[in-house]
Order: sequence, then C-alpha cells, then structure tokens
Amino acid sequence: MFSCSPGNGLTDGSLFQAQHGYILPVPGYFGIIVTYQKETELIKMIREAILCKFGEVVLKGTNRGRFESQLTKEVKRRVELIGNFGVRNNQSTIYVTPRDDKAVRDLDLMYDQLSKVFGFAGICRAAIAEKNMEDIRRVAREYLPAVMLNYRSFKCEAKRSDKSFPLSSPEISVDIGGEILEAIPRLHVDLNNPDVIVRIEIRDDYAYIHAGQDRGAGGMPTGSAGKGLLLLSGGIDSPVAGYMMMKRGMEVDCVHFDSFPYTSEAAREKVFELAKKLCEYCGKIKVHTVSLTHIQEEIRDRCEEDYSTLLLRRFMMKLATRVAREQKCHVLVTGESLGQVASQTLQALCVTDDSAGIPVFRPLIGMDKEEIIRVSRKINTFDTSILPYDDCCTVFTPRHPKTQPELEKVLAQENILEVEELIEEAWKSRNTTVLEQEL
Ligand code: ATP
Ligand code: MG
Repeated sequence: MFSCSPGNGLTDGSLFQAQHGYILPVPGYFGIIVTYQKETELIKMIREAILCKFGEVVLKGTNRGRFESQLTKEVKRRVELIGNFGVRNNQSTIYVTPRDDKAVRDLDLMYDQLSKVFGFAGICRAAIAEKNMEDIRRVAREYLPAVMLNYRSFKCEAKRSDKSFPLSSPEISVDIGGEILEAIPRLHVDLNNPDVIVRIEIRDDYAYIHAGQDRGAGGMPTGSAGKGLLLLSGGIDSPVAGYMMMKRGMEVDCVHFDSFPYTSEAAREKVFELAKKLCEYCGKIKVHTVSLTHIQEEIRDRCEEDYSTLLLRRFMMKLATRVAREQKCHVLVTGESLGQVASQTLQALCVTDDSAGIPVFRPLIGMDKEEIIRVSRKINTFDTSILPYDDCCTVFTPRHPKTQPELEKVLAQENILEVEELIEEAWKSRNTTVLEQEL
C-alpha cells in the first residue's frame, strides 16, 4: 500500500485516531499520521519531531562540548518525566522524537517542558519529510493545513544545511509556497508582514517543515555556571531573581528566614510553593529555613527603631553567608532593586553588603517593578507572590527607616547586641527541604 524507510530510533507503533487520520502500526515507525481520503485509500503519512535549537552555546568555542552535554542531560531528564522519546544532538539542534504512541499523544506536554530548558534560542514542532521535493511537497500539503488554521498570510523560507540538495533555497521556498496556496486557498503570501513563516529546513538526515517557531527559554544550560544561594522571601522579586540566575546557568539553593510566630505557617508554605515553581526550570531545589525570631525581638527591644530593617538585613546576610559556605555556594543572590524601598538605596545596599562574607548578586538591580512583574507573570510565580502573608521584613517595620545610613552608626547599633551568640542560636534552627519538579 505504501513504502517507507526506517526513521531514527523508531520502532513499532499502534493504531489511534489523529486529527486528520490515524496513527498506524508500521514496523519501524512511531507517530505516523496516516490519512485516508476514502475509507480504504491511504494518501499520506506524517511523522513529527520537536527541534530545539541551540542559543549562546554555539559561541562557546572549545568549551562547547561541555555545554552541549549539560543541555542534553537536561533534555533527557525531562524526557524521562514524560515518556519514551528519542534524543539526538546534531547540527546545533537537539531532536526529540516520540518512540511510542503515548509519546505521540504527549508531544504537547513534551514541548511545554522543552520550552523551559535554558540554552535553547528556538523551539518548534516539525513534520519530517524525506529529502526529495516530492515528499517535501506531500508533507507540506498534508501537515500544514492543521497547523496553519489560525493564520491568513504566510511566507516560506527554506534553508539548506545540506548544500548537495538539487534546488536552491529560493527555489524550494517558491515551490512549497505554491503547494501551500493550492492546499489552503484561503491563505495568501505576504513577504513583508506574514502571520507566520513556514520554514523548510533541509538538514543532514531529513527535511523538516514547520509553521511558527517559538522562542526558546534562552540563557545557558542549567548547572553550567556554578552555584549560588538565593535569599527567597515570599515577595514578587526574589523568585524572579532566582529565575534570572538560573537562566544564566547557575544552580540555585534557597534560604528563607521566618520569624514564627510573628510570621505564619502559611507564609512559609507560600515560599515552598514559589520554590516549587522554580523547580520547573531547574528540576530540583534545596530550601534552607532559618528562624530570625529572637534576633528580631532583640533588635526591637534594644536598638534604635530607625535602624531595625538594616540591622535585620545584615543578620540575614551573615546567616546566608554561613549557609552558602556550608552548601558550597559561591555567591548570594537577592531580589533587591535600586531605590525600591528604604533598605535598597545605594547607601543601604552598601551597609548590607558589608555584612556578607561573599559576593552578592542582584540581578534585578536596574529593573523597574513593572518589568519584574512581567517576568514574574511569565514564570507563573506572581499569583502566589501576591498572597497576603507577612514576611519577617514586614514585622516590626520602623516608621522612619534610615535611607542614607552611615556604616559606623549601624555598626554601633549592631554592637549593642550579642551578634555571635544570636547567629549561633539562629543557625541551630535551620532546616533543609529538597523539592523536586512535579508534572
Ligand atoms: P517584594 O519587594 O516584592 O515585596 P521582596 O522579596 O523583594 O519582595 P524585599 O523586602 O524587597 O522583599 O526584600 C529584598 C530582598 O531580600 C528579597 O528580594 C530577598 O532576596 C531578600 N529577603 C527579604 N525577606 C526575606 C526572607 N524572609 N527570607 C529570605 N530572603 C529575604
Ligand atoms: Mg523587593
């Protein structure tokens, strides 16, 4: 009835109904959409793959191999969460191909997971065609109507990494453009401002056809840039700060300070919920919690009120540095942004920095709140962040916090307290929880 040659790593499949036909049990293939014109007449077969295209990794010269293997490792971790997919790295792209029927049905889920992998500049679902014009036309005709339902105009762009292909890129574009117009007459070509760009990529093994490539998560592969400790509050900013460092490849542990019973169990749960959301980007996160209750009471009872926030922040930095050293984190990460609140003026940040024993990264330092909120919505932490629970920074807040603090005066206030003893006591309260990504 039809002929086909074996695909990469594909084995047996079984029957189920697809949008335009059926996935058939074809030895050597999976995820083949076979469409019938009439009950019995077979007219087409389509296989799909997810193409994840490298971003900055391609610029990495002699270190590129290491980055690529970290990227492949992260893709494989996500594949294992979902099902039986083949993973292959070739031509600056990782190809993820379903290997059984369940995997075919889970392609959307897989796509969603891959769109969160740092290190990819672009991602798309593509139909696979043999490397000849006849098959490319056939696949374009049969695959594109279903994926171009929401578009009215298009433009074709062909790219040949296999230069031995007999047609030039413009020739392929014109040929397939014509094919699309015939198959979907309601569409028109718009070379300047198309609703969608149909791409035909003639690669080493096959030709890949897709309509609409999405941006990848960008950044650098998870785990490629050392380890940092994020000071995670329940607010909007710190989860965004964590996400931004993860995006640059940093492995992130979290520390959260509570002030029970002044802060509630619900506030702590909210922080775990936020950390879980960050797991969607990195797979696994350690959250360390430390109690600041006694420290805050001491500051309230013995120090000048105007200095209390700054004193508290210095204690946070000291304790965070200790956690970081124990957990082999090289830097602290906070969600501070210049001028956002009294404790984030230039002078206040310098006073805070003075208490940290290791560098402090502040990825949001130059961002407006609106920009931060935009990222927070994108990573789906916003709705949790705005739940109205108290943070230790919002209990015992001074009426007139110092915005232009002098370090000597802050140190004089700090020296009223038994700093080392308080740190030792708080250190004993620490707890560690490991959170893992759930689907
Ligand atoms: P938002 O500003 O959105 O209310 P926030 O988390 O930025 O939330 P800030 O008071 O601005 O709250 O705190 C500045 C930074 O200090 C936070 O981004 C976070 O890194 C750190 N921080 C504040 N409170 C805590 C806490 N309870 N535990 C750990 N880190 C904290
Ligand atoms: Mg803030």
